Amino acid sequence: MIDIQNISKWYGTFQVLTDCTTSVTKGEVVVVCGPSGSGKSTLIKCVNGLEPVQQGKITVEDFEVTARGTNLTKLRARIGMVFQHFELYPHMSVRENLCLGQQKVLGRSRDEANAKAEALIDRVGLLPHIDKFPGQLSGGQQQRVAISRSLAMDPIAMLFDEPTSALDPEMINEVLDVMVELAREGMTMMVVTHEMGFARKVADRVIFMDEGHIIEDRQTEAFFGNPESDRAKDFLSKIL
Ligand code: ADP
Ligand code: MG
Repeated sequence: MIDIQNISKWYGTFQVLTDCTTSVTKGEVVVVCGPSGSGKSTLIKCVNGLEPVQQGKITVEDFEVTARGTNLTKLRARIGMVFQHFELYPHMSVRENLCLGQQKVLGRSRDEANAKAEALIDRVGLLPHIDKFPGQLSGGQQQRVAISRSLAMDPIAMLFDEPTSALDPEMINEVLDVMVELAREGMTMMVVTHEMGFARKVADRVIFMDEGHIIEDRQTEAFFGNPESDRAKDFLSKIL
């Protein structure tokens, strides 16, 4: 589904990614972890073409992301992305946030978009809040709306970049629960997170990055049970 082959990337003269290779198969959940500044966000931004790479090749299903002339707008409409800071439209209700892309990008009718919005918002327990504005909701509720908004577009895969890092501790689980359910339903997911409990529970594989390199790319149990590199051992000892 997602194939990353030997990518290297520079910001100016600073090399942020060095020869990274990995892939995510359909239905797989891959957690990306590593110290701050190791290139995790950059890696997943490259997957949906938000950041260009200077070397290597990325394909997502039949999109060659790194090829010249690829329709990146079309690609991004097919890949859901959820960031640390829930980027909902503040001046629109939850309902409007969920309907907009469906109508504008997918060309769904108002009724169709609305039915989908209500079903998705109901699934994350927020139907009573569907006509509120984002600012009237808690951070955890907003992040659940952000996930639902992505799902409204029927994505082929979901990318998450530290979706719970900006949340108060008591709200983290309500967001992780939604992600666990999504994983169990078979969504293809690439998740940057420090939530190692989540990783252990749902990840098929864990990628550990350091200084722009993929240091480990292992089955979850192997990674936690027996990290190979000193850097991963050191990271886990600090975080667990
Ligand atoms: P992580 O998500 O693992 O914390 P990032 O991918 O955000 O790491 O950043 C990796 C490195 O690239 C960091 O040293 C960061 O300062 C640098 N960096 C990130 N974005 C930019 C940018 N737009 N321009 C220049 N340097 C950047
Ligand atoms: Mg980051």
